[in-house]
Amino acid sequence: MAEVVRHTAKVIAKATTLSITCNPCGKVRTLAEFGSEMRSEMHRIQASGGYHSNYPADLEVITMDVCDQCLEMWTSRFKHPVDSWFAVSNGSDQQEANHSETGEKYHVNGYWARKVGSSAPWPDDMPEMPEMPDPGVYQHFKGRYYKVVGEVQDIEDGQNYVMYMALYGDNGVFIRPLSMWNDINERDGYKGPRFRFANEDDE
Ligand SMILES: [Zn+2]
Repeated sequence: MAEVVRHTAKVIAKATTLSITCNPCGKVRTLAEFGSEMRSEMHRIQASGGYHSNYPADLEVITMDVCDQCLEMWTSRFKHPVDSWFAVSNGSDQQEANHSETGEKYHVNGYWARKVGSSAPWPDDMPEMPEMPDPGVYQHFKGRYYKVVGEVQDIEDGQNYVMYMALYGDNGVFIRPLSMWNDINERDGYKGPRFRFANEDDE
């Protein structure tokens, strides 16, 4: 299990809920009490199992909220320091993602994305987001597996993107325009959705 978590656990910012409960210790933080600081103390963590993993199950993703104290207690017990955590919430700790169509590099900061090189200021608020695909593991019609890790909006043109991570190789992170995510793809004799939700029906 430690191996699975070390490679795939991510901290994912999600600031839309009214209260957050720490799964390990049960502490509750509410938006009314803490405002936007709520996510400074509470973290949403996902860990996914690869094919044939015993925990949690093949290609399933577990999601939990963990408070600062529990996170620190937990990770401090690790033999090796974690190397694959990245914060995508407020602040300067930006993540890089490649545009799936153009290959252009973007920086992602919370729910916002902007092209590398742009100096447009990061907004303070949250974007209005349309409905996005459920988080989880998806299979591309060519066979590879990816995990949806977030949703972002370009701060300059307002384009909405699905952010997802390759579950192979060096776990590259991509953003794809939402409008293209559910496209029906017709190529090489295949006709169907570009991505198919894989958590439930792939044993
Ligand atoms: Zn806790």
